[in-house]
Amino acid sequence: MTTESTAGGLFGLDALLDNPVFAGGFGLASLGFAAAFARKGAMVAAATARRRLLVNVEISKQDPAYPWILAWLSQPRENPGFIASRLTRIHDLSVTTTTASQGPPGTGGPSSASFFLQPGYGRHIVKHGSAYIAVNREKHNTANMNTGEPHEIVQLTTLWAHRHVFEEVFSEAHRLAAKANEGKTTVFSARGMDWAPLGDPRKKRPLGSVILDEGVKESIVGDVQDFLSRQQWYVDRGIPYRRGYLLFGPPGSGKSSFIQALAGELDFSVAMVNLSEMGMTDDKLALLLTKLPKRSLLLLEDADAAFVNRRQRDSDGYSGATVTFSGLLNALDGVAAGEERIAFLTTNHIERLDPALIRPGRVDMMLRIGEATRFQAAQMWDRFYGDVDSDHSNRERFLERLDELGLFGVNPDGEPSHRHTSTAAIQGLFLFHKTDMQGSIDMAEALIPRKFEA
Ligand code: ADP
Repeated sequence: MTTESTAGGLFGLDALLDNPVFAGGFGLASLGFAAAFARKGAMVAAATARRRLLVNVEISKQDPAYPWILAWLSQPRENPGFIASRLTRIHDLSVTTTTASQGPPGTGGPSSASFFLQPGYGRHIVKHGSAYIAVNREKHNTANMNTGEPHEIVQLTTLWAHRHVFEEVFSEAHRLAAKANEGKTTVFSARGMDWAPLGDPRKKRPLGSVILDEGVKESIVGDVQDFLSRQQWYVDRGIPYRRGYLLFGPPGSGKSSFIQALAGELDFSVAMVNLSEMGMTDDKLALLLTKLPKRSLLLLEDADAAFVNRRQRDSDGYSGATVTFSGLLNALDGVAAGEERIAFLTTNHIERLDPALIRPGRVDMMLRIGEATRFQAAQMWDRFYGDVDSDHSNRERFLERLDELGLFGVNPDGEPSHRHTSTAAIQGLFLFHKTDMQGSIDMAEALIPRKFEA
């Protein structure tokens, strides 16, 4: 057979194909080639089909919509039938836990925790209406230079024919987020060069729960509301649409509580920076102020820190990584991000501030939120015991006791008293005797700050 076949030419094709070993190998090779070709073809076709038939939306972690979409994805969905439910239920979840301690700080009391389940990293499929949406949550190994956190994205993919579903998904996710934050105030703080929510949004604090001296609260609230209604007035006159307030006075007088409550009243969030915080530099402050979260009250705590630094630098040439006086002024005067900017500066040391701060747009209104007055003590009593002290007789006894102790600036003999107390201390006393008015009267002496004892 071999001799015959060589007659037709050296390794003739017929002969080769007649050879069972070769023919088998050739068959396999061509099959492999065809399969590879088909696979490549299929890949190209799939890529083309994907481009033509599918729509992608990518949301990065920096985008405000990112947490909304994750929350939307973790919503329970109605069962779309056995097969579809196996497809569309998200099986890999990750959990984010936030804890809040209950009770006074330092008591080591139990803490409450809330858990937020969200889709884990990887691919999932969800169904919305009649559309299937492929979800891909990915963590990249590059990091955000500002926060040091790894980049993260969520990608949603659906059929081109269903592309309009995204509008629905985004508005539903936004509605859900707005609903979850209803009645709450978000507090933002600086994280790296960006603003990030500080814990979960807190329950709005009612304005009525902050008791300032007669007329003080009304004058600030009235001024802020007037400012908010005058945007056009500022625009017409080419004046930056900004207003600044300086609240000063001893600690524990309700400055922060008031700003928090005011934000709740206006449905604003609070964007808070502590100027004495290490690492808060002029550049960082300026940058943060250019990207204030929308509808937020800017709260610059410890405004005196910038002035202390200046004095230190003047005396010993020290220049630490903190905000300087000119840095603070530049930041306040710099380009504002949103339409309006309402800034609150707080300090316990007004004497350290520089008059240059008191300019329109920087600080327009200065208010002292000071030691507890008779008016405040009476109002706080009513908030705690008003329902059980209908004839106010106990309230009067309590106020008389505080008069005797000289806590309202005058001694019983009519001489000026240097003793005073804070609203925080009064609140502490009432909290200790929640349902016991007599207990509060008997223990009123505890309101005398230690430095005035003796
Ligand atoms: P500040 O910012 O002036 O140091 P805070 O607002 O932090 O004071 O008050 C400390 C605590 O005391 C808070 O729990 C707050 O509820 C209470 N408190 C202080 N002052 C008042 C006030 N005027 N009205 C109601 N609560 C007050």
